[in-house]
Formats: sequence, structure tokens, C-alpha cells
Amino acid sequence: MLRRILELPDPVLREVADPVPTVTPEVEALVDDMFATMHANLGIGLAAPQVGELLRLVVIELPPNEKDPQAGMRYVLINPELRRLGERESMSEGCLSLPGFRAMVERAHTATVTYTGLDGRSARLDAHGLLAQALQHEIDHLNGVLFVDHLDSLDELEQIPPDGLEWVPAPAEEDADQEDT
Ligand SMILES: [Zn+2]
Repeated sequence: MLRRILELPDPVLREVADPVPTVTPEVEALVDDMFATMHANLGIGLAAPQVGELLRLVVIELPPNEKDPQAGMRYVLINPELRRLGERESMSEGCLSLPGFRAMVERAHTATVTYTGLDGRSARLDAHGLLAQALQHEIDHLNGVLFVDHLDSLDELEQIPPDGLEWVPAPAEEDADQEDT
């Protein structure tokens, strides 16, 4: 089922979400809804508070990229915790809750996250690049933080066309080279 994505300035987006106590059929159904809603809106990540559920639950699926084995995989992270962050760099970023805008945001290039999987087991994910960026962005949502909070000024927001993808990463250098040839 498609869910409505809350947009700024909806106050629910500013709340701190509660831990998911156990993986229930309701949680599994919410995960299905979140993937469907994310795909319908051309997103690569979605946090439960964005569909009005104040739970610490995140889904991520990067577009397939044969050079990146972490791309194209479906990640479901329940109660995720950022454990370790690498060096920071400036990355282009947008949000389905703030459609039509993007900005350069400082994010760690690598991130280690622990979480509970849909199978109820504890797991750990070592991420880099776009996946690390998405993890930081989505876990921020669980704490009521939006990417604009990382900007010095809202003047840094860049408007993108209404039909543009919300969450388009800058192409990796290798990919850019490939497209040029
Ligand atoms: Zn977002």
C-alpha cells in the first residue's frame, strides 16, 4: 500500500521516533509499504516517520550499479545505531519530505551501523559512499533531524525541476568517465 509522505513543515518530522520492540506482521507490512512508497517517489531511502509512523525503522535501496555490490540490495534496518563514522566530505543530497530541493551536505564517507534485521537478528553493516550517506540521512530522520539542519543557511538549497529525481546522487567519477566514452 502506498503511504503519503509527510513534507516539511509537518511537525511529525521533528519528533524522535520510538524503538521497534519486536518484528511483528504489522512491522513487515509497514516495510512493504515503505519500499512501495519509496519506489513510487523515486527515492533511495525512507524512514518510517516520513510516512507518519514514529518508529526507528529505515529502508534503503540504491539503484543497481555493477561496480558497487551494496547497490541494488534491499536494506531494512530496525533500531539502527551509527557506530563509527569516517572522514567527512561534501555530498549532494535531497529528501522526499522536501521535494524540489537539494544541497551539498557534509557526510562521513564511511559508516558502520548496527541494527536488527527483519529476521529479528542483530546485524552490522559497513557502508561507504552513497550507502553511508543514505544511512546517515535516514537515521537523522529517526531523531527528527532533516538534511537542511546541516546547512549553514537555507540559501544553500538549490531548486530542482519538479519532474527531477528527488534524491539523485552525483555520479561516481568512474561512471562519469564511462559515460563520456
Ligand atoms: Zn529524507
